[in-house]
Amino acid sequence: MTVADHRTMRLPMVEIFQTVEGEGAKAGFPTTFVRVFNCNLRCTWCDTTYSYAPHQPAFYATIGEIVAQVDGYGNSYVCLTGGEPLMHGEKSLALVKALSEVSCVQDLHVETNGAVSLAPFVQLRQTEEDAGGKLRFVMDWKLPASGEAERMIAENLSLLGAQDELKFVIADERDFQAACEVLDRCQTAALPLFSPVWETMPPARLVELILASGRKDVKLNMQIHKVIWHPETRGV
Ligand code: SF4
Repeated sequence: MTVADHRTMRLPMVEIFQTVEGEGAKAGFPTTFVRVFNCNLRCTWCDTTYSYAPHQPAFYATIGEIVAQVDGYGNSYVCLTGGEPLMHGEKSLALVKALSEVSCVQDLHVETNGAVSLAPFVQLRQTEEDAGGKLRFVMDWKLPASGEAERMIAENLSLLGAQDELKFVIADERDFQAACEVLDRCQTAALPLFSPVWETMPPARLVELILASGRKDVKLNMQIHKVIWHPETRGV
């Protein structure tokens, strides 16, 4: 299949919009969000349930159309998210490659849930010049309270590099302990982020747990868009 053919591949979509990045190492930067429809998990605390069945895609778009919108916004930062944006096989791979080739894009970070093999996407980063310089992964590693911890692919942890982020969404103290155990076991090169579940883990409590644990290697991760706007506001 040629590059031109890849541009005609169609993906189910939720939304494409610009805002400021709400979390992680690049929080606060103007960012274009590309939200692809559907997810292979069903986390108990999910805050984007509109991005998978039984909801429907908001629209379908070709990779060429997605790239044109991203180019039109002109932001240096792009967040590819979902749902799970890497669950569409060759289409996901082609979309990641095409977004990394947009000239205005300097940082393409992909939010992925740990239950899709990262191997082909890491290979893309190793073999393609644009992806090599721009592509980063933000892996949301599931903990017991999510109900999806058993779906995590252990090999993914070893594929993360120093430019990537490893996020743990922490609902309770059992999750906190489980996240610490993962870090102790895997010795990841990625930046570990500890995020509180908005409804069940007061951020002050999470800070207490981090300090009491004596860990020096984790960063508290707050979703600033939930502070700026109402937590259920979409498209911001
Ligand atoms: S992986 Fe993300 S989008 Fe999918 S159910 Fe879990 S939190 Fe929601």
